[in-house]
Amino acid sequence: MSKRIIVTIDGPAGAGKSTTAKAVAEKTGLPYLDTGALYRAVAWKLDRDGIAPEDGEKISEALKNFKIDISGGKVSADGEDVTEAIRTAHIDEIVSAYAARPEVRGALAGFQRAQAADGLVADGRDMGTVVFPEAQLKIFLTASAEERARRRCAEREAKGESADYEEILKQVIERDRFDMTREIAPLRPAQGCVILDSTTMSAAEVVDAIASLAKEIEAQENR
Ligand code: C5P
Repeated sequence: MSKRIIVTIDGPAGAGKSTTAKAVAEKTGLPYLDTGALYRAVAWKLDRDGIAPEDGEKISEALKNFKIDISGGKVSADGEDVTEAIRTAHIDEIVSAYAARPEVRGALAGFQRAQAADGLVADGRDMGTVVFPEAQLKIFLTASAEERARRRCAEREAKGESADYEEILKQVIERDRFDMTREIAPLRPAQGCVILDSTTMSAAEVVDAIASLAKEIEAQENR
């Protein structure tokens, strides 16, 4: 059996991490793990249950029996399909505050590591720095804030939702600031990572660059 590798893709909101990671997973045959979806599902649950991000004790208690499932491209929380519900502007707004909590990060880190037995492509904020520092390929994918806001706007509009560019740009900048300055697992490039700025690259170029690197490294690992 050949050894499968771990590929991590970290970066700010709207850099195209999940689209890229999904396509890289498809090209390399590695499983895909969307860790942003896990943080979103936790935020969805805690918000629905009226538990504030400041309430560490209640968060710990609530997460003890929380069942999350991300198989088959769907996200379910306590048996409820939340695939769509976790992608709203409201969740965009509240997720970072919950993601800054040690109780939340601790619970999700264990879950994430448990998915890596057959290698994987994982995208998030701290995949290469904290969760999989031993990953054979670590990517830091970024793009200018304006380009990222423009892409988010286009995504919303494609779904038939209204999108205010200035408002989205403000949110993108604010969420980055929050993710980069938090005490635990702040967003930053991992040691030994490849930094890819996708501002002027097409999605296909980004995917091809990462997939070829991954294939090369996997071949080396199995030599
Ligand atoms: O990638 P996505 O926008 O879905 O992530 C939502 C939020 O979840 C991020 O803004 C960040 O606060 C948090 N997150 C995190 N660590 C990860 C993935 C996401 O803190 N590995």
